[in-house]
Amino acid sequence: MTPRHHLDPATLVSHAAGALSPEMAAVADTHLEGCAYCRQQLAAAERVGGVLLSQQQPAASEPQQAARLREDMLARLQQPLPAAANDPSETTNAPRSLDALPRPLQPYFGKSWKALRWRWMAPGVHMIRAPRSSGDTLILLRIAPGKSMPVHSHGGSELTQILKGAYDDELGHFGPGDMADLDSDIEHQPVTSPGVPCICVAALDGPLQFRGWLARKLQPMVGL
Ligand SMILES: [Zn+2]
Repeated sequence: MTPRHHLDPATLVSHAAGALSPEMAAVADTHLEGCAYCRQQLAAAERVGGVLLSQQQPAASEPQQAARLREDMLARLQQPLPAAANDPSETTNAPRSLDALPRPLQPYFGKSWKALRWRWMAPGVHMIRAPRSSGDTLILLRIAPGKSMPVHSHGGSELTQILKGAYDDELGHFGPGDMADLDSDIEHQPVTSPGVPCICVAALDGPLQFRGWLARKLQPMVGL
């Protein structure tokens, strides 16, 4: 299946520069495993970054230079790609067990779908939170089919990769392999598709805020 929603160029540049948190990188890598288009974009960002760094050293470590470098990389990435970038025939990964979680998520959630221990959070919503390794939050969410989530916007940056099932919102249809790389000012109301639960993995900028048991129950819904 070819993903239709991709990582934002700014996220790819940050990833190429090693500037994503481990949690954000795990979600980005989960998308990259299944997306030849984004792998090509990332490779381009890494190439451009290498060239620019070699031109600008040694000052590239200074914040202003680093910001300019990032702008240059973004500008070059937004130029048209060679036709090969869209070649869907490029293979993703060797076949693996149907029970295997995506490899980038295994350090956080284990190897097996069946072994996951889902926690009930709200009607139709289950969650697993990965043990904290940096300041960011990494969660698996399982949302029942045909469920409408509250309208919400995003407080910080967030990457959400759809693993199973699907949802629709104002931005379109998101199915397995799709990435929702959303700005903090986007307001949307996802509705999960009928049939099977929607399972996604999300990395959130910063820790979840807990204020009482109700907020604690609602937070994963608001965080999606
Ligand atoms: Zn992609």
